Formats: sequence, C-alpha cells, structure tokens
Amino acid sequence: MARRKKIYEGKAKTLYEGPEPGTLVQYFKDDATAFNAEKHDVIEGKGVLNNILSEFFMLGLGQIGVPTHFLKRLNMREQLVRSCEIIPLEIIVRNYAAGSMSKRLGIDEGTQLPRPIVEYCYKDDALGDPLVTEEHIAAFGWASQQDMDDILSLALRVNDFMSGVMLAVGIRLVDFKIEIGRVYDGDFQRLVVADEISPDSCRLWDIKTGQKLDKDVFRRDLGSLTDAYTEVARRLGVMPNNPPAPGKPQLVN
Ligand code: UDP
Repeated sequence: MARRKKIYEGKAKTLYEGPEPGTLVQYFKDDATAFNAEKHDVIEGKGVLNNILSEFFMLGLGQIGVPTHFLKRLNMREQLVRSCEIIPLEIIVRNYAAGSMSKRLGIDEGTQLPRPIVEYCYKDDALGDPLVTEEHIAAFGWASQQDMDDILSLALRVNDFMSGVMLAVGIRLVDFKIEIGRVYDGDFQRLVVADEISPDSCRLWDIKTGQKLDKDVFRRDLGSLTDAYTEVARRLGVMPNNPPAPGKPQLVN
C-alpha cells in the first residue's frame, strides 16, 4: 500500500487523504467495539463485509436521490468518499423498541412503535454519546433549524429505503444510526449521508426466526458475527468474491 496521509482513525474505520482534493479514502477495519470501546475484538472479514454492504446501501440511496458521501469502492476494504464536515450528532431512527430505548423507557425489545421515532445523540465518546434534544442542538449551534429539517427528512427517507430493501430479503429493520456531513459547493452547503450504513450501525432481525444479524451478536455474545453479516450480504446478493474465511490469510487488493 502506498504511503499516504492518515486523516483520522476511528474504532472501525480509518480515513486517509484521497487522490484528489475534497476526497478521502475510507478503510474498513476488522475491529469490533461495543459499550464505548470497553469490549473490543478483531473479527476477521468484518471490514470486507461492511465495505461491500455500505457500498450497496449508499448506491441504492443515491439511486433514489438521497445524497451520500460515497463515490466508489476502490477494493475489498476501501472506498472513495467525498470529504465532508461531520455534524456532531448520531441520528437514530427506530421502528421497533430495542437497546437503549427499551432500557430507558421500559418497553419490551421488539415492540413495534406507533411510527418511526428519530432521536439525536451528541457524538462524544468521553460522554458516552448522550441523548440530546433539538433545543440543545439549536442552543449549542451544532445544526441550524434548516439543517434539522433536512436531517429529519433524510433520516426518514433512509429508513423507508432500508426497511424496504431488508423486508424484501426477510429481514426486519429494527433501528439504525446514520451520520450526516456538510459538503460545500462554492457558497452553498449541502447535507449528505456520510460514514457507513452496515450491520454495525443497524439492528437487523430475521423476520421468521427473530435471529439477530447485526452487531448485537458481538455485544451480547450470540455467536459468530462474520456468519451473521455474511448472511445479510448473501441475502442481498452482494457477497464478496473471496468470502472471508476466519483464520485464513486474506488477500487485500
Ligand atoms: N448505534 C451505532 N453507534 C452508536 C450507538 C448506536 O451505530 O454509537 C446504532 C445501534 O447499532 C442501533 C441503533 O444505533 O442500531 C440504536 O442504538 P441504541 O441507542 O439502542 O444503543 P445501544 O443499545 O446499541 O447502546
């Protein structure tokens, strides 16, 4: 791999300077973390699967007119993306109660919500990404009212798209998290879906059996995370050419 400038290293991805101004290379690592990185493991092949799944979802969103930062996949672990300024919010959309919402409000996991519920968390690992309201967001200037209107509309469009794609392959989209970035075209600012959309950032349950096919498999020690993500990729018809075989050396282009 050519020597290049690392811009940012996160828990599951690394960002490098891209080949042209305004671009970045997003590298998907095999690291899995949970509970604010208290639990950590390396899961052979996870990065390959998330790269391909995120490409699939971002391309699909692009096809229905939802702007994303995705430009193209470069190889098994990397994609070229537009550089953007990430709004410091995790935007969570929920269709069924699970995880922190179930704990917070005492609603059984799997209870269908009366309508999709959108929540915002302030992106700060040291604080454990606390839930915030639009009041906090406006008062602290993290996003304008216009941004919030656009973010809500983007989040609901992503939810409709992702729910439909998953339903078609027998998977329930319980909830997911997205991040939104600002890109500048001259004086104009546009919002785009950034970061990744993958089983790391969604809850995906098999409709018939309820089997979990997402990062909860890792968080809750429910079996092989690679098997779960492979199943999602297989159902969506996007299995990588060299399916990751745990324990064997991997060829990375
Ligand atoms: N999520 C995420 N990153 C985070 C927090 C949450 O991708 O830092 C996703 C998570 O995978 C789930 C949804 O957002 O699909 C809602 O997560 P929740 O608030 O229930 O938190 P958790 O129970 O995972 O702590």
